[in-house]
Amino acid sequence: MQKNVFMYMHQNYSLSKLNTLRLISQADNFISLTSIDDLSDISNYINCVDYNSVGFNHAGSNCVSPNCVSPNCVTAKCADIEQRNFFVLGGGSNLILPEVYPGLVIHNQLKGIELLAQDDIYATVKVMAGEVWDDFVEYSLNNNWFGLENLSLIPGTVGAAPIQNIGAYGVEVKSFIDYVEVYDINSGQYLILNNEKCSFSYRNSVFKIMPNYIVIAVVFRLLKQAKLHTSYGDVAAQIAKIKHPTASDLRKVIIDIRSSKLPDPKLIGNVGSFFHNPILDIETVNKLRIKFPKLPVYEVDACHSKISAGWLIDNLGLKGYRVGNVGVYEKQALVLVNYDKATKTEILSFAKLIQDKIFAAYKVKINIEPIIV
Ligand SMILES: Cc1cc2nc3c(=O)[nH]c(=O)nc-3n(C[C@H](O)[C@H](O)[C@H](O)COP(=O)(O)OP(=O)(O)OC[C@H]3O[C@@H](n4cnc5c(N)ncnc54)[C@H](O)[C@@H]3O)c2cc1C
Repeated sequence: MQKNVFMYMHQNYSLSKLNTLRLISQADNFISLTSIDDLSDISNYINCVDYNSVGFNHAGSNCVSPNCVSPNCVTAKCADIEQRNFFVLGGGSNLILPEVYPGLVIHNQLKGIELLAQDDIYATVKVMAGEVWDDFVEYSLNNNWFGLENLSLIPGTVGAAPIQNIGAYGVEVKSFIDYVEVYDINSGQYLILNNEKCSFSYRNSVFKIMPNYIVIAVVFRLLKQAKLHTSYGDVAAQIAKIKHPTASDLRKVIIDIRSSKLPDPKLIGNVGSFFHNPILDIETVNKLRIKFPKLPVYEVDACHSKISAGWLIDNLGLKGYRVGNVGVYEKQALVLVNYDKATKTEILSFAKLIQDKIFAAYKVKINIEPIIV
């Protein structure tokens, strides 16, 4: 008998515990994606393809009512709707969710890790998108596959890692991605995007402009010999205390640093860094440096440098600054926190306040990092 994913579709489903900012939110419709076999049914639903109790592959002008879970219930005309709203939810650690999401949330729960190939230099490893990112980092080190140690303790799923090209302590995930397997919800096709086609850049990739791509799996090319990146910020000072540090030592140092600086989302709602570090042309950066000699600057290329948004905020004395339910985290100025029951509107108006203060003081625009749904 054909499996019907819509039997498992929930209505008015609470997302409040599924986003680390802990915003109060619910989805009109919600489904857990545990098997890639379900993708074509979901694609038909999103694209308003008619379905009935026999099968789902008959294109037509009718579609199932969003409020009806029965496969026999074909009630709503959707000739005027091109596509239903949807988005993929991973760990919810980089999202600003609305109080009500008018569409389908696809919660990615695809699991599995497979070693595809290895030689003396590389291990090629395929990881399904619903695996927890930090569990995979630990797993890779336990198998002597190196490279991801600087990205330890970043919350979220493997499938979301390429979306914003996660990065920390001088390393970005793009350096270890061989290719990404996606399902195009519009065409119903499986695609493979090699590293170049992903167009990775600072906290960005092609996936941000292709919401129709559901990441199914990420294939990593990891190193068989560790090559430690230890020059960034506090890491250098801590690792210098260890004789002959290993990749596992580096992971531990990074976990300790992160745990001391970043709020635990289980205790206080946050999405990590709330703003991007601005990338500016060298001339602008040099002018800023004359006025603010302590401003941390990181070279990007011959013409551009990245400056620390956290420093800009901290330098205005805004650590611990609070309005209502929302504030700047007292130990890390780049992190905004939800003290209690904040909404999307509250968090965004507080963010605007901070952006305006930064612009007034430095004439620099800081952009919001998490995805606003
Ligand atoms: C305490 C804390 C610290 C953090 N530190 C860092 C850091 O150091 N560096 C860093 O880069 N980020 C950091 N983040 C941000 C966040 O952890 C990452 O962006 C992470 O990759 C988000 O993963 P997620 O599974 O939670 O994605 P979600 O928040 O669920 O989704 C994020 C976006 O990706 C899309 N998406 C998710 N899964 C898929 C999929 N399978 N297919 C297609 N689209 C998908 C979603 O639709 C959404 O647009 C931090 C967050 C927190 C809370």
